[in-house]
Amino acid sequence: MKKTDTIIIGAGPVGLFAVHQLGIKGLKSIVIDNLDKAGGQCIELYPDKPIYDIPAVPECTGEELTKKLLEQIKPFKAEFYLNERVEEINQVNEDWTVKTSKKNEFVAPNIIIAGGVGSFEPRKLSIKDAERFEDQSLFYAVRDKEKFKNKNLSIFGGGDSALDWALELSKNSKVTLIHRRNEFRGAPHTLSQLKKLENEGKVSIKTPCQIISIEGEKYITSISIKYDDGKIEKIQTDIILSFFGLIMKLGPIAEWGLNMDKKTIEVNSKDFQTNKNGIYAVGDICNYPGKLKLILSGFHEVALASVECFKRARPNEKYRFEFTTSSKAIQERLGKK
Ligand SMILES: Cc1cc2nc3c(=O)[nH]c(=O)nc-3n(C[C@H](O)[C@H](O)[C@H](O)COP(=O)(O)OP(=O)(O)OC[C@H]3O[C@@H](n4cnc5c(N)ncnc54)[C@H](O)[C@@H]3O)c2cc1C
Repeated sequence: MKKTDTIIIGAGPVGLFAVHQLGIKGLKSIVIDNLDKAGGQCIELYPDKPIYDIPAVPECTGEELTKKLLEQIKPFKAEFYLNERVEEINQVNEDWTVKTSKKNEFVAPNIIIAGGVGSFEPRKLSIKDAERFEDQSLFYAVRDKEKFKNKNLSIFGGGDSALDWALELSKNSKVTLIHRRNEFRGAPHTLSQLKKLENEGKVSIKTPCQIISIEGEKYITSISIKYDDGKIEKIQTDIILSFFGLIMKLGPIAEWGLNMDKKTIEVNSKDFQTNKNGIYAVGDICNYPGKLKLILSGFHEVALASVECFKRARPNEKYRFEFTTSSKAIQERLGKK
């Protein structure tokens, strides 16, 4: 079991800035997120949209903010565990242990929950047998593209993920791209590349149609799709890749015995601790009188929570408030001295 000073659940903007606030105090952290990349809502929901209310940054997109935060926390060498969801937390004496969906276990005196509106999860296919084939021959994300080499791939969706992977995987596999509308939402440039491949007979594009059944015993052998005009077509398929977007689920957080108000965790606004000592909630997931669901509020919340984290992680040391401009210790931690 890996030990650290603070386990941060959620790599959204607030979880990322928590690494900074802990790091300047000399505390180590581990960050866990269900998504395959850091950035939370900023990267998943509005990577290209400009944000105008980050102090001293007149304008930056969700993606730019994420990149800047990652750059800012680089000196602290936090360990990231992506693609895994925190399932369980348990108390062991004064410490907390965390178990993830990949069966990783961590222990720390502090847990900062920066879980936003919950974990982002793929919208799943709602047809018979879909669950039975999941992770065998039906996937909602590409973790290892080697798995999809030299196969008959049926890729569902009309957004960037579906278009990008259709293009990429068509290099080594037979790809059929299937969408319920004639219009695609993904980048026009990628679509025109796919249309060119279709004209060359290297990719098939089927619209407007939806999947109606999956055939196969242990593995998928074919699927059937139904066009809007009622026509049904069977497509030889080894693997389905489905990109119907993400939904947000509070998930296991609701089962950790924390005081909840609807889908948020109640905290005090002094140090952002929950009803359990050593467990803090910050960012969109926390709730206290006057709470504003803004990134800048989350930044303030982690600054205060990190002070209490220091006290629990270093019970024999005295916490000293310091400015980054004048503290040699902080500048050393940032690699400036
Ligand atoms: C379209 C849009 C525009 C916005 N514009 C602005 C703006 O202009 N200014 C502004 O200040 N705010 C804006 N916001 C709000 C802002 O994005 C949020 O306040 C901010 O993202 C909250 O950050 P967070 O780190 O608390 O949570 P999130 O960004 O939601 O990140 C939480 C992360 O926790 C992960 N997670 C949750 N549960 C688990 C679990 N059990 N295990 C592992 N990981 C888990 C999730 O996968 C997610 O990545 C906007 C929001 C939207 C949707």
